[in-house]
Amino acid sequence: MIRSFKLPNGKELHTPKILLTYTNVEHGMGVKPWEYMKVPGLLFPLNFLYPLFEDGTIRQTLKEFLNLQEETITLLDCDLRYTPHKKRFYTINIDAKLKSLLTGPKLEKIDVEKLKETIFTLKPDMFSIPYYSIKFTDSDSEVRNTNDANMRLLEEFISIFDEIKEFCPIPVIQVGIREKIEDKVNEILDLLGEAGLEEHLFFAYGSHVGYPDRPKKETRHDLLNIRRIREILGDDRYLHGFGIGSYTLVPACIYLGVSSVDSTLWSIKAGMKEIIVPGVAARSLRGSKGRQFLSKEESTITCDCPICNGRKISDVKSTYLDDEKKGRIHNAWVQIKDVEMLTEAIKQKKLFAICKERIERDPKKKSLLEVLQHVHTKLVSLC
Ligand SMILES: [Zn+2]
Repeated sequence: MIRSFKLPNGKELHTPKILLTYTNVEHGMGVKPWEYMKVPGLLFPLNFLYPLFEDGTIRQTLKEFLNLQEETITLLDCDLRYTPHKKRFYTINIDAKLKSLLTGPKLEKIDVEKLKETIFTLKPDMFSIPYYSIKFTDSDSEVRNTNDANMRLLEEFISIFDEIKEFCPIPVIQVGIREKIEDKVNEILDLLGEAGLEEHLFFAYGSHVGYPDRPKKETRHDLLNIRRIREILGDDRYLHGFGIGSYTLVPACIYLGVSSVDSTLWSIKAGMKEIIVPGVAARSLRGSKGRQFLSKEESTITCDCPICNGRKISDVKSTYLDDEKKGRIHNAWVQIKDVEMLTEAIKQKKLFAICKERIERDPKKKSLLEVLQHVHTKLVSLC
C-alpha cells in the first residue's frame, strides 16, 4: 500500500519501505550502505548495539554513532529473546542467563527504566515495545508464558505512553501456531483503547516469514496472519513485518498488507558469497551445496549499483568473491531498488503479477502461490 505517515518526531515516512537490518555494529565489518546510496530505512536489533554502551550506558544517538542520513528512518527492534551474544544482557541490565531466557521469559529481570533510558538516548524514529518473540516451535506452555510476559510489558509501556510517544512506540502482534491472530490483535486494540489510544497508528507483526529453512506450513501461516491483521487494522494504519527478508516473498508480503519489511539478506548473503540478482533472487557465486548457483543466463544481467556500475554480473563476479563488503553494497542497492520498483508496480496495478512471477521462480516456495491466489480472488471479488 502506498501511504505517507507523519512520525511523532515530525519525520515523513512513505510506504512501502524496506529497512536494512543493521547488525554490523557488532561485527565491526564497517559497511555503511548510506555512504554509497540513499538508504530509506534501517532496523537495529537492540541486542546488537552493545558496542555503543560504555559501562552499561549508551551515550550517543544512533544517528551520531553511525553518521546516518537525515532522511533514513530508524526502527529499534527491542526483541528480548533474540540473542546473538551473551554480552547483550548487561546492556539492558537483564541479569538472566542465556539458557533460562530461552526456555521462558523472566519478566522480573527486565529493568523497564533502563530500557526507557536506552531508547531516549538512542533516539530512534520508531521502536518496538519490548517483547519476547514467539517461535512456532514453542510448546503451548512456552507460548502462554511468553504471551503473559509480553502483555505485561505492553501494559507497562502503555502506562508511560506520554513519556515515550516521541519515539513512536510500536506494539508487536504475534501468536503461536495454534493461536488465532484475530484474538491477539483485538486484545492489543482493547488495551490501547482502555488507555485512550484507540487512534494509535503504528503496529508490527512479529514473524520470520521466509527464513530459508522454515517449514512451508509456518510461512503460509505468517502470510495469512499478515492478511488477517491488515483486515482488522484497516488500510490506514502502519504495519511493519519483522523478519520478512526473503527476496522472493517481499512483494507478496507487501501485497498482503505490510507497510514495511526488514531484511538481513543484504549482509548475510554477501558473507556466504551470494549476491542478489536483480529481479531474480540470491544466487551463489561459488556453487555451495544446497544453494542455487548463478546460471549462465542470470550472469548476463546488468546491474547499476555503485559497484557493478552498469556491468554484467559475470564481469564483476570475481570482485564479489574477493570482497564481501562490496557484495553487501550491491545487495543493499538491489533490495532498495526492488522496493522502489514494487512501489511503481502498485501504482500500475502490477504488484500481483510480480508476486506470482517471483514465487514461481523459487521451487521451494511455489506452493505458497495458493495462499496468494486465495487472497487475490477475495480482494478482486470485493472490488
Ligand atoms: Zn550490482
